[in-house]
Amino acid sequence: MPLEEQAEYVIKNYCKDGYYILESVANKKNDTILNLIKKWKMDELFNTIKVAVHEECHDYQNIMNKSQYDWNNRFWIINQTHILNGQPIVVKFVPDKLFKTELALNNIPENLKTLRWKTYVSSGSQNASNVYGIYGLLQEYEAYYHGDKAVYDTFEYVKKFLLQLKISQLIMKE
Ligand SMILES: [Zn+2]
Repeated sequence: MPLEEQAEYVIKNYCKDGYYILESVANKKNDTILNLIKKWKMDELFNTIKVAVHEECHDYQNIMNKSQYDWNNRFWIINQTHILNGQPIVVKFVPDKLFKTELALNNIPENLKTLRWKTYVSSGSQNASNVYGIYGLLQEYEAYYHGDKAVYDTFEYVKKFLLQLKISQLIMKE
């Protein structure tokens, strides 16, 4: 079975939140869950599950509710969708009126800067986690949460599945 089909099977059967995210985005985009997973296909199953749920969580955040233009004040209002207790919740913000995360750079002690620091927070980063300030950090926090939770939720099954695969490969070699 191709990796993306394996990933779809385990997410569907073992990861409620991840499946909710993929299903919502697929419905909204008039696409299939399999196609969404295929875009994020990695070297192996756990990575594929993690990355697909993480990245499609960003799609969920961005496309479930449209942004609006405020003609009186002449700025965009972003309607970011997050998930709270399995339900969508809209968080509104105005990108023109917020502080980039990089403004806090000098106040973060060196020992708290992890390996993702440079990509997500450092000066000049074009990621939402910098450009959208605290709202962007919230996006990444949520996407990492769901990506990692998907691995956690599917871990026992995938472990057994991979073990069986290894055993059958060993048997076939004999
Ligand atoms: Zn992300």
